[in-house]
Amino acid sequence: MNIMRVTVFKAAIPLKAPFRIALGVTEVAENFFVKIETDEGLCGWGEGSPFPPIVGETQATCLAAARDLCRLLIGKDPLDIEARMRQLKSFLPHSPTVLSAFDMALYDILGKAAELPLCRVLGGGARELFTDNTVGIDAPETMAREALEIKERGFAAVKVKVGTTPQEDLERVCQIRQAVGPGFPIRIDANQGWDRVSAVQALQEMAPLGVQYCEQPVAAWDLAAMRVVRRASPIPIMADESLFDSRDALRLVAQEACDYFNIKLAKSSGLHEALKIAAVAEAAGIPCMVGCMSETRLALTAAAHLASARPIIRFLDLDSADMHAVDPVLGGMTYGQGGRLALPEGPGLGAEPDPVFLKGLESFVVK
Ligand code: MG
Repeated sequence: MNIMRVTVFKAAIPLKAPFRIALGVTEVAENFFVKIETDEGLCGWGEGSPFPPIVGETQATCLAAARDLCRLLIGKDPLDIEARMRQLKSFLPHSPTVLSAFDMALYDILGKAAELPLCRVLGGGARELFTDNTVGIDAPETMAREALEIKERGFAAVKVKVGTTPQEDLERVCQIRQAVGPGFPIRIDANQGWDRVSAVQALQEMAPLGVQYCEQPVAAWDLAAMRVVRRASPIPIMADESLFDSRDALRLVAQEACDYFNIKLAKSSGLHEALKIAAVAEAAGIPCMVGCMSETRLALTAAAHLASARPIIRFLDLDSADMHAVDPVLGGMTYGQGGRLALPEGPGLGAEPDPVFLKGLESFVVK
């Protein structure tokens, strides 16, 4: 089986409301879809959602890069994913989001060729998965109201964006705890917004409020600061922007810089590398979360298959499609009561973009 044709679609997905984190504001998810077709009639779908301040890619750079990556795939075996991704990565090593869309489409083809759902192809089964839902940075009373809504909608945990000043962030978490009551899991994410002194201060003051863990308190590159904060913090520390691939995972373990990993396909360049991060995590005894940028249910389905297949992934933060004003995906994982994710039973991803939605999009074909 060989790759015959690749089509790339530029997609804009409006959000229900602007979403603010310490690194910036998102109003529209500027994503793209990749469709890889083979000479045996199978086709695979992938999606990328570049978040520039984290991955250094934009929708425009992803579309330009995709043209070159397509040419490297034509005529090649789609099932030899290690070889395909090695070639794409050696051509473009620091563009994880565009690579992840191609990786996802190749795994979709693999599942369809095997006639198995992706979680099965990855050597796992369907297990119960629950996602949290996230509150963006805003006035404390607004965030408290939104957190309560998330609890009332049945989600099992709320993730709270922080990372302005320790005083403001403490007030946010304080009001949210009052609104949701004791016992309801609150996770926080500072998105690199603090320095080591303010991080230690904020985390020590928040600890009595009951915070499950804190993502990325300090700058992504500063593993020494991650380690200092982790040692002083009563709240466990999760590496997100510090963790792209399995080499980062190994460095974080060696430097004892975190308690948890946050794996995202848009950072890892897809499933092939996410599986390697999960292997490092398992060997080091580091539980993981799988997270998202602003993907539709297409890429979220790939992440949910991964989580289902790897029990070291204990936490899920796959809520981006819930923030979108439109849902352009047919099939795929769905949100149920309690933030429970239901995986599709079809082969591969079990999800594809709605052809009606695709009709209105700019696209190009390489064959
Ligand atoms: Mg994060």
